[in-house]
Amino acid sequence: MIVTLSKSISLHDKEMVRIYLQDRGFSIQEQHFGDDVIIGTQKKGVADLRELGLLPGVERVAATSKPYELASRETHPEDTIVTVGPVTIGGSRISVIAGPCAVESKEQILETAALVRESGAVMLRGGAYKPRTSPYAFQGLGMKGLEYLKAAGEAQGMPIVTEVVSPELAVDMKDLTDMFQIGARNMQNFELLKKVGSLRKPALLKRGPSATIEEWLLSAEYLLSFGTPDVVLCERGIRTFETYTRNTLDISAIPVVKELSHLPVLVDPSHAVGIRAKVSPTALAAVAAGADGLTVEVHPKPDEAFSDGPQSLYPGQFERLMRDIEAMAPVVRKELLRTPRHSYGRAAMGPGAGTAPEPVHRPSSAAQVAFSGERGAYGEQALIRAFGEDVPRLSTASFSGIFDRVLDGSAVAGIVPVENSLTGSIHENYDLFLRYPDIAIVGELKLRIVHCLIGDEKAGLDSIRIVRSHEQGIAQCREFLDKHPHWQRESYSSTATAAASVAKEKAAHVAAIAGEDAAKAFGLKILKAGIENNPLNYTRFVIISRKVGDKPWIPPGLGSETPNKASLVFSVPDTPGSLFTCLRILSEGGINLSKLESRPIHGQPWRYLFYVDVNIPETEGVFEHIMDELKTKTEDFRFLGAYRGSL
Ligand code: PEP
Ligand code: MN
Repeated sequence: MIVTLSKSISLHDKEMVRIYLQDRGFSIQEQHFGDDVIIGTQKKGVADLRELGLLPGVERVAATSKPYELASRETHPEDTIVTVGPVTIGGSRISVIAGPCAVESKEQILETAALVRESGAVMLRGGAYKPRTSPYAFQGLGMKGLEYLKAAGEAQGMPIVTEVVSPELAVDMKDLTDMFQIGARNMQNFELLKKVGSLRKPALLKRGPSATIEEWLLSAEYLLSFGTPDVVLCERGIRTFETYTRNTLDISAIPVVKELSHLPVLVDPSHAVGIRAKVSPTALAAVAAGADGLTVEVHPKPDEAFSDGPQSLYPGQFERLMRDIEAMAPVVRKELLRTPRHSYGRAAMGPGAGTAPEPVHRPSSAAQVAFSGERGAYGEQALIRAFGEDVPRLSTASFSGIFDRVLDGSAVAGIVPVENSLTGSIHENYDLFLRYPDIAIVGELKLRIVHCLIGDEKAGLDSIRIVRSHEQGIAQCREFLDKHPHWQRESYSSTATAAASVAKEKAAHVAAIAGEDAAKAFGLKILKAGIENNPLNYTRFVIISRKVGDKPWIPPGLGSETPNKASLVFSVPDTPGSLFTCLRILSEGGINLSKLESRPIHGQPWRYLFYVDVNIPETEGVFEHIMDELKTKTEDFRFLGAYRGSL
């Protein structure tokens, strides 16, 4: 239990609190955190928390079973998302920080920043003050190095993180860095923690090489209790009897700490293993274990690095790692965080700063994004992956409702499922693109779908007689449902709507097939998780926005990377070889076709439209030229949008 006393408590009242606790069998430990006095007690006594809270001078009583209160999930059940300029760390994103071990020269850091940014890093790391084991090793460029790091971050639109080694330097560095790193060797430098905490800047707290998880969280408690709410933990390997690798990455610490604490957890695979070839597999394992991101050492010429060259990735290796993380993220129900690539000034930094041009049709109300279904729907999950947790959401009762709301401007964007890896295309939505010519596709996202059978607290597998879901949910769980042939299947407009109806009915005989988030949103119990026919169950969503003139407006938060994928739809004359002619144009233009699907043209029996997804070649102008040629060979040609494809 932790009792926080008011700053102005009198000596008499403080003594009364002490006597109150001692009389009830507690042993007391008084600590001072900044201005606050905190009396921590051991769990031996019994007290009425309400009565204790009412004693004069007592500000707060927390019945935590952990010695760290502010870092504990017991007192803060929701995940904390730390914001550093346009970057968020935590929640449903995987945020990757990259850069050299140390800033060695202006040229070196500018070059590295450009390379890691190109591959998708969102923050730049680099040591200006290096705590080195040997006093003869390179100690860093100091303040000059920090200035170079700041300039490189600004040039690439990346906030920076750098290590601070003393309380005095923390003050000098405060206005130059976006985030402080507390190095592993300094994890228990309590004076440093107190000073950094009091500066109220985001802090990346590395785990000490021999620190237990509890000691690590207690160090986080120092930062939090001294003022900064923005603490990110970083597992970087601990010292064990194994000497093959530099340290031993304590991978199990990731899920353990995620349970004990609400703070985001990053992993530093570079210092953990110390061997270049082992960094990427370790990094992927960290993502698989639930890390909220990584900090990775990358150097343009690792062989010439002043420090940690053997563990620094070549830029090409880092690029490959980023692609692998992007491909793996949906498996752990996350999305790789991307931020706009153009540079931004420090003054403009802040959540969402510099993310989008001012839209012509942007409604004056908050920029909402539309999805179909209730709270907890897969569409809502995809929306959160694409735009973050904070974006206002507008739910619609049908898929066409998404298009309507985007068209009338009440939503700036919408998220629409178009294809499932088990059941194929969602034709209703393909057809909607034809009905709404002023809507364009501006983004794409793949979401792993894990279906659960969810029901009332009273329900069990034996009590179920009716199962409700969207028809896609029913189809994707057919093998499981076939094992329960007596269950009646009822189709609903969305999986979350089905969950809502079950929650309303509160009966033991009805259940819904929906996601874990829907169970949470409606307070339902998960009767069985992972009931989809195949775990490789992904739904591809596209992000839509309204065209302004003939150009789509790019909603904030989508990033501004060059599109590499496009969707089009066309019909061809009813003559021999007409489709072949179109495909040949694509083929000869070196354009890769990633999807081709035909749909009946409404009102024209036995005539078809072709939906085509293609990759856009990098050479400028080539794609436009091929599209122009294609138009001359097709009857009805519609360009649905160019966007950044997700893997
Ligand atoms: C670093 O990140 O450059 C570093 C020195 O790491 P650690 O404190 O984890 O050894
Ligand atoms: Mn290093």
